[in-house]
Amino acid sequence: MNSIMRSSLVFFLLLGSANAFFTPQQASPSTASLYTPATATTESLTKLHASKNKQKVTSRTNWANARGYFSTSSINAVDSETSTDTTTATTKSPPKIIIAGAPASGKGTQCAIIQSKYGVIHLSTGDMLRAAVAAKTEVGVLAKEYMDAGKLVPDEVIIGVVKDRLAMPDCIANGWLLDGFPRTPAQAMALSESGVSADCFIFLNVPDSILVERVVGRRTDPVTGKIYHMTFSPPTDEEVLARLEQRSDDTEEKVKVRLEQFHANVEAVKGSYVDIAVEVDGAQRPEDVSEVIMKSIDAVLA
Ligand code: ADP
Repeated sequence: MNSIMRSSLVFFLLLGSANAFFTPQQASPSTASLYTPATATTESLTKLHASKNKQKVTSRTNWANARGYFSTSSINAVDSETSTDTTTATTKSPPKIIIAGAPASGKGTQCAIIQSKYGVIHLSTGDMLRAAVAAKTEVGVLAKEYMDAGKLVPDEVIIGVVKDRLAMPDCIANGWLLDGFPRTPAQAMALSESGVSADCFIFLNVPDSILVERVVGRRTDPVTGKIYHMTFSPPTDEEVLARLEQRSDDTEEKVKVRLEQFHANVEAVKGSYVDIAVEVDGAQRPEDVSEVIMKSIDAVLA
């Protein structure tokens, strides 16, 4: 991947996908029949509480002030460790969150909620690649054959794109929510080698049997971006129903390939983030999933 290809995709993404980065999408409606009863995991939260001590505190940004996450105790701790100038206001850096999970594990729904609450930049590699395919950029043309087959796009194609995007000023100022990356051990390695670390790694755990059902019935409204399910949460409006679109890789045949790829890589990727990992039962109702996720992120930011 040469730098011209990467730059052109990044440029396109900034222009064409600005909306997707900044406009919170609505969470899809839920029905009790789709989800198993709620159980919040306290073990993962405890782990995360421990990991918050590792957070880097900087004076680069007013992010925490703006959102009321100003913490006097952590400021004092950092001031005494790193500086003798206690008059300088020191704030925490904005959140850096990775969310992972199988296809249709609910990442999109949860990302919209996280983005709207914390003001982070949502970077979905799937959305980035679909935009590149639609725009027929060089990266898009290259990625298309893999995506159409349900396979992963080669690491060398996606790694540079993500690294460049994370280095952009909006991500540095607002923090980011990385969705769909890293998806292979090589991608996780590339992130850490380039000095990019996250505060929190959220993993949505959903059994394959539920995932296939969710994928096959999943439809998107191209106008609002809202996600529906033909059985569990169909639109009530006939006009919306008529314009719903299905992702070309959301078929039973392709989801099987996508799940194989997911299972082949997931343990190695999780292994790179054990200290900051929070595993959430993604088979719960979306509201219950969000509650666990928010508590986990708040624990990191506290
Ligand atoms: P899902 O997680 O439901 O499979 P995404 O929208 O995240 O869907 O991704 C769609 C497709 O985009 C993937 O099947 C893959 O071909 C490609 N893709 C997205 N992210 C990556 C990645 N980090 N590495 C390689 N390919 C990716």
